[in-house]
Amino acid sequence: MRAVLATGPGALTVTRVPDPAPARDGVVVAVRACGICGTDLHLLSGELGEDRFPLIPGHEPWGEVVAVGAEVSGYRAGDLVAVDPSLHCGACDPCRRGRGNMCERWQAIGATRPGAWAEFTAVPAANLHRLEPGFPLAVAPLAEPVACAERGLRRLDPRPDEPAIVYGAGTMGLILAILLDARGVGPVTVVEVNPARRELAARLTGAEVRAPEEAADLRAPWVIEATGNPAAFEQALASVARAGTLLVFGVANPGARAAVSPHRIYQDELTIVGSMAILHSFPSAVDTLRRHAERLAPLVTDRYRLDDVEAALALLRSGATIKTVLTPEEPS
Ligand SMILES: [Zn+2]
Ligand SMILES: [Zn+2]
Repeated sequence: MRAVLATGPGALTVTRVPDPAPARDGVVVAVRACGICGTDLHLLSGELGEDRFPLIPGHEPWGEVVAVGAEVSGYRAGDLVAVDPSLHCGACDPCRRGRGNMCERWQAIGATRPGAWAEFTAVPAANLHRLEPGFPLAVAPLAEPVACAERGLRRLDPRPDEPAIVYGAGTMGLILAILLDARGVGPVTVVEVNPARRELAARLTGAEVRAPEEAADLRAPWVIEATGNPAAFEQALASVARAGTLLVFGVANPGARAAVSPHRIYQDELTIVGSMAILHSFPSAVDTLRRHAERLAPLVTDRYRLDDVEAALALLRSGATIKTVLTPEEPS
């Protein structure tokens, strides 16, 4: 099959590799589309460790089941599925406490095991989520990012009819703003540095949108930091109303530091929560996509063939895309 192979930091090739076979408890999925995201850029640069290479990236696939392992029941060839990339061992202490995203032997499809920037990908049947007939396939590439967003919103646990602020109008900030509104939380304000992305946020989320310098007086009980930038984190924390909660969703550089007032956290009884990847949130993400497909579909903005992966990555780095997907087929 054709696949994108990352052979070392910054080194990609589109090549032929052997077709995958299903494990006894797994299936092979013919990939219809697989998203690319910021995590892939970190991975490809070698920041997450050079022991990951060589690797077929791609952790946001959906597609069609084409081969089924001997021990798999409940799936057959022709089923359409989205794939949860999380591989939790199930045996370590965090896994046994129901906190698989903290797994001591954490792995993920497309991050530590072969992924889906390819014509086919072999995955455990336990990672499949069925896309029933009639499912709005235009939003299928958003299953993984929406599952991450759902996990974050469970951590934030906002109340309806109360204001919220989202820092960052990247892909995840836009998804989070839309899902807050869909849950009746609001009014929602999006704070974003980049004017082009502010325009996108206004058009796609329906939220009020401001530049950071216009947001100094904003306060809300529910605040999300979705940039990974320490300066945005400081502003986000400052904008949490008394007794409010800050969700730290953006992925900061591990060495980044921000100034925090312990007194204010005490005095105002602030809550700060983190959210890391997906935990038990994939099934509800598939439901959310079905219910809110019309609002979420415009977020899938760009499609590239596997051969054009370098152009797709350049577009992602430029910031001029929301969700770019790779597709083994000719994009229609
Ligand atoms: Zn991703
Ligand atoms: Zn584990």
